[in-house]
Amino acid sequence: MVNLAQSDGLLAVISGPSGVGKSTVLSRLFQFQDEFWFSVSVATRPARPSETEGSDYFFVDEKSFFAMEKKGELLEWAQVHGFYYGTPRRAIEEQLAGGKTVVVEVDVQGAQKIRQLVDLGEIPKEKAVFIFLIPPSVDILALRLRRRKTEDTETMNFRLRAALAELQVMEKYDYIVVNDRVDNAVEKIRAIIRAEKERVQLT
Ligand code: 5GP
Repeated sequence: MVNLAQSDGLLAVISGPSGVGKSTVLSRLFQFQDEFWFSVSVATRPARPSETEGSDYFFVDEKSFFAMEKKGELLEWAQVHGFYYGTPRRAIEEQLAGGKTVVVEVDVQGAQKIRQLVDLGEIPKEKAVFIFLIPPSVDILALRLRRRKTEDTETMNFRLRAALAELQVMEKYDYIVVNDRVDNAVEKIRAIIRAEKERVQLT
């Protein structure tokens, strides 16, 4: 149980397909340290030369990863591209209890697992917001698909099928942010979070 009942904390879950410029948007968002606390995941993949332990990820081996999982120390975890990634639970609980907005960047499986925690009542519904970042091209495809409905799905090419799959995933999120320009996307995310925090305060 994530104990949030008495706090103003908000859990902002951000996902997006690769190639959407997600890391650029997140690093820009990172400049607003006073507004957000960024969760650092544990990962079993090797660190890239540009990455710093404890800042980009906590890099661990599989044995340590599953030891954490077994002890219930991960809020969620998933296998992505052959490696394991997980969100440490305790630091997030502490930050949320202190009223912070916690940003977690997870893949769609991770977001689904956190959504399940909301559905199970472990995280109060009004204290989590799910944001999906998409490139403008996918948005245009998605709009076309919406207009066309699905009667000729059989004849759609691979890109449209991929966009449809993406669209189905998108529907599970509360907000879709189109990454047309990094500054715009960052401002939209901040505005969503500000509005959601207001909702928390008013309930
Ligand atoms: P990368 O290896 O490129 O840093 O990340 C690969 C994927 O793992 C990205 O889609 C990223 O969103 C996802 N990811 C990073 N941390 C976590 C986590 O803690 N949980 C889950 N489920 N996915 C994560």
